[in-house]
Amino acid sequence: MLIKVFKFGGASVRDAEGFRNVGTILKKFAEEKIAVVVSAMGKTTNALEEVVKSHHARDGKASGLLDGIRNSHISLISELFAEPADVIDDLNETLVQVEWVLDEEPHEDYDYSYDQIVSVGELLSSQILAAYVKSLGISSKWLDIRDVILTDNTYRDARIQWEATQKNTKEKVLPLFEEVNHIITQGFIGSTSENFTTTLGREGSDYTAAILSYCLDASSMHIWKDVPGVLTGDPRVFDEVIKLPRLSYKEAIEMTYYGAKVIHPKTIKPIQNKQIPLYVRPFLDPSSEGTVISDEKELSYPPVIVIEPDQALLHISTNDFSFVAEHHLSMIFSLLAKYRLKVNMMRNTAISFSVCVNNIPDRIKKFETALGHEFKMVTDPDLELITIRHYNEDVLKDMKKNKLILFEEKLSDTVQMVVRNLPKMKRKEMV
Ligand code: ASP
Ligand code: MG
Repeated sequence: MLIKVFKFGGASVRDAEGFRNVGTILKKFAEEKIAVVVSAMGKTTNALEEVVKSHHARDGKASGLLDGIRNSHISLISELFAEPADVIDDLNETLVQVEWVLDEEPHEDYDYSYDQIVSVGELLSSQILAAYVKSLGISSKWLDIRDVILTDNTYRDARIQWEATQKNTKEKVLPLFEEVNHIITQGFIGSTSENFTTTLGREGSDYTAAILSYCLDASSMHIWKDVPGVLTGDPRVFDEVIKLPRLSYKEAIEMTYYGAKVIHPKTIKPIQNKQIPLYVRPFLDPSSEGTVISDEKELSYPPVIVIEPDQALLHISTNDFSFVAEHHLSMIFSLLAKYRLKVNMMRNTAISFSVCVNNIPDRIKKFETALGHEFKMVTDPDLELITIRHYNEDVLKDMKKNKLILFEEKLSDTVQMVVRNLPKMKRKEMV
């Protein structure tokens, strides 16, 4: 059976018009077998994060915030359906699960609570989409992905249990495709073997689509986005960016590793393993192929720029001015791992070790405390990490304008630099 996997992100279902557009796309594929993975509507995940925060702060605002989310979904449903009553009933039934959580004292494990509450965003959007797709007359069914994707209990960053997930896909998803053409399900969420809901990390719906593609042996995977494909830079930052029509898996892995936000970094590996082509394509122009990511080998690329904002440099030295030696480094690294600080760049000199990490102040504080008296640490915040793949001297010169370069590393095909933007600069020209 030939199955395709489609993923629609939050931007594609941000309003009624978005749902209608998704419906139009799916209608074109009505006779094909499609697993449709959908994210929460628009900014719903952020709004649900606020509910979790309020619940744990016990500030009395959590229920009100949840009602705001309920109301925005109800007005969308009312706009989308001629007879919205049943869909609204389903919505309220799903939200009851969150109300129960809010009725209780906050759970001692914040991340556990987070997953129980935030996961509802995808449940709601997928229920609405499933009802809408059915109303269009497409042979389809809603699926609770938590019956399929099993994970460990690392809440907010759950790891997939591949064997169980693969077995579930064979036993629970494939038979559904004997009955209907489209299966509508949630991105981002999974379940532990004890039936607690987990999430796969922010923006994890791409990863869900890749997991399903892998387990279903999909013929192709398609991420429908609000951009024409994979671009040479962020169009919100640069005036002139171009679309890359073709990309190798390797290049895509490198780009996402360095922080390109176009695809979730965990997405590529599973589909590369099975050589499944990935299309990153515009939902506003469904006839365009967008960018095709596949096993291309000898492609040449124009310069591609990836900017990671909000970085911090941590300068670590020993208090007794002794060299930072291997045993120090091994301790520093195990603490970086323990406090989940991702190392984006690093450098060591005789008496200091500097590392560029995402600026997450509470984790950095804990890390600094754990380093203890043996070390001194100075933090340099408000920095950017710029990565340029396939650079040339012109682009390099351009990117350095109005910036203080704190760190720079040049490899044959990649330049990385940690920079501070100097005041009153405008970033304009580009590749
Ligand atoms: N809704 C989740 C988020 O906004 C997952 C996703 O969009 O991929 O992070
Ligand atoms: Mg999203």
